[in-house]
Amino acid sequence: MSYLVLARKWRPQHFNEVIGQQPVVRTLQNALKRSRVSHAMLFSGVRGVGKTTLARIMAKALNCQSEKEDRPCNKCDSCLEITNGSALDLHEIDGASNRGIQEIRELKENIRFFPTKSRYKIIIIDEVHMLTTEAFNALLKTLEEPPKHVFFMFATTELHKIPITILSRCQRYELKRIAFAELHDFFKKVAEKEGVAVSAKALSIITREADGSVRDGLSLLDQMFSFGGDQVKDEDVVDVLGLVDHTVFEKLAASLLSGDLARGLELLDRTYRAGIDIKRFANDLLNFFRTVLICKTSPHPEELLDISDMELQEAKKIAAGQSAETLYQYFHLLLQGIGQMQYSPRPRMILEMALIKAAQAGQIVPASVLLERFDDCFRQSLSLPLSQVAPADPVVVETNQPEDIKEKDVSGSREVSAVKEKMSEKKTVSPKPAETEITQPGPSVAKSLAPATHQKDVRKNWDDFVAYVKERKSWMSHVLQLCDRVEEHDDDLIMIFSQPTEYKILDQSENMKLLTRYVQDFFQKELKPRLRVRGGEDACGNSDNSVSEERRALARDPLVRMATEVFGGRVASVRTGPKFR
Ligand SMILES: [Zn+2]
Repeated sequence: MSYLVLARKWRPQHFNEVIGQQPVVRTLQNALKRSRVSHAMLFSGVRGVGKTTLARIMAKALNCQSEKEDRPCNKCDSCLEITNGSALDLHEIDGASNRGIQEIRELKENIRFFPTKSRYKIIIIDEVHMLTTEAFNALLKTLEEPPKHVFFMFATTELHKIPITILSRCQRYELKRIAFAELHDFFKKVAEKEGVAVSAKALSIITREADGSVRDGLSLLDQMFSFGGDQVKDEDVVDVLGLVDHTVFEKLAASLLSGDLARGLELLDRTYRAGIDIKRFANDLLNFFRTVLICKTSPHPEELLDISDMELQEAKKIAAGQSAETLYQYFHLLLQGIGQMQYSPRPRMILEMALIKAAQAGQIVPASVLLERFDDCFRQSLSLPLSQVAPADPVVVETNQPEDIKEKDVSGSREVSAVKEKMSEKKTVSPKPAETEITQPGPSVAKSLAPATHQKDVRKNWDDFVAYVKERKSWMSHVLQLCDRVEEHDDDLIMIFSQPTEYKILDQSENMKLLTRYVQDFFQKELKPRLRVRGGEDACGNSDNSVSEERRALARDPLVRMATEVFGGRVASVRTGPKFR
């Protein structure tokens, strides 16, 4: 007794047995009911999704002798002949081996005659994209005016290779990859009916491997059934098919992301020893990181991913503890490694190096989070008692500058004017950001920084303003400190910098909005901050800097300064990428 492979045994014989192609099935059945079936049909889709199967069912339905509406009946002579492959009026042609013009000429000769037994002659050409241009041209004429007794059905995996002239004469049906859940249920049913107990994990691995194709999945099941008899266990799938259970990827990713590189390499070693193809493994691992990234970034990852619920839950769990940046870093380094693996005699080593590199790069914290952390640090240091705060260097101001000594509208503080009288030549202003009392007359005078209830002078209170900002948005105060000069004109508060790069970050609308609020709250005036560059026209105008000046400015960038301060480093060199401005 010959063994019938599962793919043939389970080939659908009726529309309602076709899985995963409901829209196409419905359209075909409606066309049959209304007798509006096109004389040229084209089924496209990846391998093993049911293109020729649907064409055959359609052929049966067209020639079915049953009076019932639900055709094919699978009982009449015509149906049975097609099922067992002896129908004289059904011609199945393999486009790959009959691709020349001669074969098409013979076919055209053949269809001139009426069908021998059935209502229609039906021509199915599989892999039709393999036909030569001449063959397509020869076919074209027939497709323009097909004889009433002939139906053409084409199947292809490569729709784009079909000439547009042919496409435009066909009714097209695009078949989809079959969804994981649907395929999984189908394979489960097949296993049950075949009397084989397949473990849940094994079934999941086979379904994943089938990648949307019924035929691929069924041939994997075939292999497993002939190996395992009436039972298929998890390890059988790994041993026979060389496939890896998804939990290996989960464990590997989790150990790498938690910084346990040793465990990660150990897992890789175990996989390698099990005889798994390392290039394939790397690709599957890459795919796993894609899954985790999608879980991280999409609110509905299940719509984008074709995986089991169990896998989805695990991926979500891993995604929850990581930043998208970190996950992308792993994805990127792995992708790079895979590229190098293609040409290397030692793919395992390259994969190991990629994983080490990724693990060493560590966790990436998004810049916005970093800025917030800096702010928190500064805020905390400000809330410490004054004695613990390192005093800032006093700023010495020459008294012969008229704007600075005419304190008529400072803060109305009597202490200040009292001290001023006692002061001889110089006056010292400390930009300390907290309210202090003057305990002894001397060269050091601190002003009150509490927001005043009335208007303040921009130039005189600038340092206080910077301190005020520092309490609220520390990074912004660093930028303000770079400002060379401030001027007040009408309703504008003009801030003059020496380089446009110094205020670049302030120039973003969100930051500008915040700055405006601080300015108006502090100075109690309807002022609008304006950013200018010294000697330049406007904030948006690019001043004509030489490259070296620009580099110097980059080194002075407040973000860079802050970073060097926080990490205790220094700027060693400045490298610029392609111009982005
Ligand atoms: Zn029938």
